[in-house]
Amino acid sequence: MTDTVTNWAGNITYAAKELHRPQSLDALRALVTGSQRVRVLGSGHSFNEIAEPGAEGVLVSLADLPAPIDVDTAARTVRVGGGVRYAELARVVHAHGLALPNMASLPHISVAGSVATGTHGSGVGNGSLAAPVREVELVTADGSTVRIGREDARFGGAVTSLGALGVVTALTLDLEPAYEVEQYVFTGLPLERLEFETVARAAYSVSLFTDWSEPGFGQVWLKRRTDRPLPDFPWAAPATEKMHPVPGMPAVNCTEQFGVPGPWHERLPHFRAEFTPSSGEELQSEYLLPRPYAMDALRALDAIRTTVAPVLQTCEVRTVAADEQWLSPSYGRETVALHFTWIADTAAVLPVVRRVEEALEGLDARPHWGKVFTMPGEVLRSRYPRLDDFRELTRSLDPEGTFANAFVRDFLHPLS
Ligand SMILES: Cc1cc2nc3c(=O)[nH]c(=O)nc-3n(C[C@H](O)[C@H](O)[C@H](O)COP(=O)(O)OP(=O)(O)OC[C@H]3O[C@@H](n4cnc5c(N)ncnc54)[C@H](O)[C@@H]3O)c2cc1C
Repeated sequence: MTDTVTNWAGNITYAAKELHRPQSLDALRALVTGSQRVRVLGSGHSFNEIAEPGAEGVLVSLADLPAPIDVDTAARTVRVGGGVRYAELARVVHAHGLALPNMASLPHISVAGSVATGTHGSGVGNGSLAAPVREVELVTADGSTVRIGREDARFGGAVTSLGALGVVTALTLDLEPAYEVEQYVFTGLPLERLEFETVARAAYSVSLFTDWSEPGFGQVWLKRRTDRPLPDFPWAAPATEKMHPVPGMPAVNCTEQFGVPGPWHERLPHFRAEFTPSSGEELQSEYLLPRPYAMDALRALDAIRTTVAPVLQTCEVRTVAADEQWLSPSYGRETVALHFTWIADTAAVLPVVRRVEEALEGLDARPHWGKVFTMPGEVLRSRYPRLDDFRELTRSLDPEGTFANAFVRDFLHPLS
């Protein structure tokens, strides 16, 4: 038991003073059925109150539950426990000669918590991390286990569910044969030379980084699968030293560069599992927009860069393929994702977050569920065409609202 529980960034201290760590599924069931309000804390890498159960609520960690990582090599699937992080999962999957299609910028995050918020990596052909999920196992409010697979009509709401349906105790994911990736970093791509669609398609995964001190990108990271053609990248110069996306931070924290081939899970994330990811002292925001709006959005950000730059560590531009999860920020549309790593100063950052949201008005932006945003609920609701289906699903699986915290209620259930 601890006095305070905070998220990874330290900007959220949960009102729930205690972190419950059940050691068995039966103990978890008893905790859930004996509580009015429950939320799970994954690896705590979200930057807002999405995991907050409220002062009277129960905050649960699955860290002490048995953590299966059961690979079925014939079926090319893995069943993974609700508390497992990508770093562990990837090591086991790779040892079986198999792979996930993509990873986020860091492997430190839990699988269940990541897919719950629509977490993603980059690549025009790569969906969010929820894309390979084929089945979800939940302990629901009445303590029963519910399995929802791809063939189930409820599946569209079951994976990117904001933790609002129950405790995800396991997920089954599709795998593919292991592959190798080479990472190349280029420097100096002015905005006026950017052909976004061509650049985004230059490799399996492409990220552009800028601190908006200039109208352009200081770094472009290409992750090329060795079983795909070697990209030609005439738009920027190859880096001459190993780089970190945040200028001035130690590049040793980053995955191998200069085209050294390596296993998928040691190249797709930007940050190495054994080091602090990103800058460590930060807040983050991200907005996901229809990809055809990419250049309009980048010009809109360029127009406010003197407001953005003073509180920014780095801005990353990625792509995500359309998916079918109702609450996924990349639901139903090929997506460009505009990410901001801010300085760790909420008071200074929030007005700039608002300014960014104003600049992106009219471009149908959906904020990342796990990051800082100020967009009001009514605007957010208008961006999710399947919201009513999700509401119906929460009513059927969680009629008393055991898993509906203030974050979920404010944005999804304003009338309840
Ligand atoms: C340094 C850093 C880098 C990041 N990079 C990326 C990136 O590259 N791409 C990206 O899209 N995002 C990124 N993020 C954001 C991060 O991936 C998301 O916030 C993600 O949700 C974190 O997973 P978590 O397990 O820490 O979730 P938490 O913050 O612990 O929880 C998120 C939500 O999931 C719910 N939840 C967690 N586990 C369960 C469970 N077992 N059952 C039910 N509900 C559950 C929680 O209740 C909460 O609602 C980054 C964050 C950090 C700090």
